[in-house]
Amino acid sequence: MEKRVYFDNAATTPTHPEVLEAMIPYFTQNFGNPSSVYEIAQVNKNAIDEARGQVAKLINADTSEIFFTSGATEADNWAIKGIAESYKNKGNHIITTMVEHHAVLHTCQYLEKNGYEVTYLPVDEYGMINLDDLKNAIKETTILVTVMFANNEIGTIQPIKEIGQITREKGIVFHTDAVQAIGQIPVDVQDCNIDMLSLTGHKLNGPKGIGALYVKKGIRLKAYIHGGAQERRRRAGTENVPGIVGLGKAVEIALNNMEEKTKKMLMLRKRLIEGIKEKVPYCKLNGHPIDRLPNNVNYSFRFIEGESLLIMLDMKGVSGSSGSACTSGSLDPSHVLLGIGLPHEIAHGSLRMTLGIDNTEEDVDYLLEVLPEIVQRLRDMSPLYEDFIKESK
Ligand code: PLP
Repeated sequence: MEKRVYFDNAATTPTHPEVLEAMIPYFTQNFGNPSSVYEIAQVNKNAIDEARGQVAKLINADTSEIFFTSGATEADNWAIKGIAESYKNKGNHIITTMVEHHAVLHTCQYLEKNGYEVTYLPVDEYGMINLDDLKNAIKETTILVTVMFANNEIGTIQPIKEIGQITREKGIVFHTDAVQAIGQIPVDVQDCNIDMLSLTGHKLNGPKGIGALYVKKGIRLKAYIHGGAQERRRRAGTENVPGIVGLGKAVEIALNNMEEKTKKMLMLRKRLIEGIKEKVPYCKLNGHPIDRLPNNVNYSFRFIEGESLLIMLDMKGVSGSSGSACTSGSLDPSHVLLGIGLPHEIAHGSLRMTLGIDNTEEDVDYLLEVLPEIVQRLRDMSPLYEDFIKESK
């Protein structure tokens, strides 16, 4: 059989078999509407409560601070637009970064068109914000700071605890999109002074279409989706019970296996990073060398097009990504790679490889076998490479 290697776990992950098993009864015998009074409905209600507890435990929050959503895009929209609305008497200024996911960036851009002012903090060559830039950007009218926990393209982990200290001292609400960090590294909302946090199921071997927003007690956040009284009147709509149960199970597995998983990811990441460095000339590792997610590898290869590289890797059975999944299909280079200062032509030649629980050393070795050959074939077609070789002779 042809070898298939999946290295796109930051885009989405396969559902863990135990997660699927936990979900199935909630499609079949436990199908009742949790708002009803009879027994099959109450079973659902209890299952939702249990999952809420599992999510709360993972991030060290209180059960009452977790609200289920359809995913992180909704959680990000709710957090940002919700604070903009609830705190508009205090001010209209929001601080975020240039390298956020579009779920945050486009929400901020929408608010800018509606009378809000947004500061987009720059990042350094590793994708890290500067805390002095944050301090200097804060004004009387600042109502929200939203900075992602870890970047989905280059894996850089932001100084979240330090940001939380600054926002707490200034009395400003701090939201973080922790989608990529959850299940990869420990996340503690109390230790980091986080007021709101978005997460999603499908990045940690849970189902798609389910996520959560953590809202610290005392933060004023109105309902975003109006209708029934679900989620303590804050998020209307019949609950996605199988999804919620699946998210709870995924989170429980992630918490129990975190240490073992991190060890494996770090071992595979090292093998991949060093292997590419050794076997492929004219490449550059993007993202922070140390403060990066254990499962993220992102390289730029000079003189080639990331899209062609992806297609040729796919023909060899390898799935990777050249930007975030949501932006592939667009010819613009990724805003994250441009944000860390890469010139357009180098940003275009990048490959993101994100590891997951099913990956093995053999997967890494297979990529290391096929990649150098593909990169060379593409370079042999490039006039830029030809010029470069002539000039360097
Ligand atoms: N935020 C980040 C950092 C992500 O990587 C993603 C997914 O690509 C999202 C938000 C959106 O999550 P969802 O697919 O649950 O809406």
